[in-house]
Amino acid sequence: MLGLMQSQSLLISGILTRAARHHATAPVISRLHDGTTHRYGWVDVERRSRQLVRALQSLGVTASDRIGTLAWNGYRHLEVYYAAPGMGAICHTINPRLHPDDLAYIVTHAADRILFVDISFVALIEAIAERVKECVRDVVILTDAATMPAVKLAPGMRLHCYDTRLADADADYAWPDFDENTASALCYTSGTTGRPKGVLYSHRSTLLHAYAACMPDVLCARAGERILPVVPMFHVNAWGIPYACALTGAGLVLPGRHLDGASLAGLLNEEQVTLTCGVPTIWMGLLQHLRTSGQTLTSVRRIMTGGSATPPLLIEAFRDEQNIRVEHGWGMTELSPVGTYNAPKETQMGLQGAAAVRHMLKQGRILPGIDMKIVDGDGKELPWDGVAFGDLLVRGPWIASAYYGEPPNSALDAEGWFATGDVATIDPDGFMEITDRSKDVIKSGGEWISSIALENIAVSHPDVLEAAVIAARHPKWDERPLLLVVPRPGHTVDPASVLKLYEGQIAKWWLPDEVLVVDSLPHGATGKLQKTTLRAQFKEYYMGSAGS
Ligand code: AMP
Repeated sequence: MLGLMQSQSLLISGILTRAARHHATAPVISRLHDGTTHRYGWVDVERRSRQLVRALQSLGVTASDRIGTLAWNGYRHLEVYYAAPGMGAICHTINPRLHPDDLAYIVTHAADRILFVDISFVALIEAIAERVKECVRDVVILTDAATMPAVKLAPGMRLHCYDTRLADADADYAWPDFDENTASALCYTSGTTGRPKGVLYSHRSTLLHAYAACMPDVLCARAGERILPVVPMFHVNAWGIPYACALTGAGLVLPGRHLDGASLAGLLNEEQVTLTCGVPTIWMGLLQHLRTSGQTLTSVRRIMTGGSATPPLLIEAFRDEQNIRVEHGWGMTELSPVGTYNAPKETQMGLQGAAAVRHMLKQGRILPGIDMKIVDGDGKELPWDGVAFGDLLVRGPWIASAYYGEPPNSALDAEGWFATGDVATIDPDGFMEITDRSKDVIKSGGEWISSIALENIAVSHPDVLEAAVIAARHPKWDERPLLLVVPRPGHTVDPASVLKLYEGQIAKWWLPDEVLVVDSLPHGATGKLQKTTLRAQFKEYYMGSAGS
């Protein structure tokens, strides 16, 4: 027998119309490229998003089309976030920090029909235009007529100014109702080796994730808070914060492109932000600025950190010097992204000093609505004793089942679990702690670097027999690539010439910081390179350096 309750699709347009109706003037504040500030409320976001749908329709965009964005956190980007899924199309956020080859691959793989591009990424779109012209018909620059740049596109591609298109559009659109399982957003992750893979969110997954992320033991988002996501909107929907704010009526402060310590401290204070979210590298930069300038953060009460493990210094320094609580979460692009959050249970509330900090380094408890387990090499579940460590698996309604373009459920095991590639313990209270990573990648300042891609280039050097790239801990970037090479018999390897080989082939920030020439590399019984041995040996290699 079915229940007799009303059934209403969980749609992204629903949280936007609710925000417009119930939190019309809750602030949405954007720091623009020229340093000025743009302010409006949720009622304006909703109206302009409807206008944007009309503009999209006038360009021939229809339901299911992929709408790419190459943009920082700002109000025009936010409008694309809501307009695209609201009309049944898909907002595809693209990471502009990637190499143009990867960008062109992602845009053509997603078959983006239209691209919305920040004025600061004009050179990027010019660099890939020829390679994406088969799918991209229109390019819209997110700016006004006065600052509209000249952009060299490929023949057949049309160029538009965002504000001009919007000014010409009516706001008479009515948000349609459709299946809540319809795709809403697409985000590629480089978290695995090889080419980036697309994670395709649905309206339902996005809303369920937003509800869970707002809970008191997670972001505790609510009206009256002002939340500043430093995490970019091209990183898993800025961890869902643009949706969480609309859902609760919290104010949203979007920082634009300047994410250095001084710019952030200024914005946090000027706009009286109460909660801010981002990766540890950002917080280390902010901390350094606060220490050297003597500035105090006047309104921030909590800093949420995730994307990489939290250094204890962050927790201690912000607590002791700024009276701010640092909260630790873990997630993945495939998890929408929040999976766990470290909020104390009754047993942890009394922890003091070093014990409290030690506990806060754990990645936390699984959010209500999804589940996790750790397994050994044979897939057998391991105990939650805080000691046994194994592969971390997750499942639930905001976790990917397959990557975009791949067969249904192909990212899951037979019981429907998704393997995260992280290795973890879980303690008796359910706090998960990551101890290692089985996926062979490096995370530098919150961004992935593929070790395999770097190794493939190194072994193309005429003097190199074998190469291994490992993630070595780094004081500023969390991790940086360290390249180890074995010379061919009778050859000597000049490290500078190996590094030179990378020029033009990878994004500059992927370049290994150092090349170590070694006699041999460790191999297992099957001949496989033993990265764990190398990591154990060289993990701390950069920790003595000042960090460039
Ligand atoms: P991404 O898909 O780019 O968000 O990366 C997800 C991966 O980042 C996870 O599988 C972890 O390897 C890593 N990660 C995310 N949050 C944390 C954290 N709090 N501590 C350690 N690693 C993390």
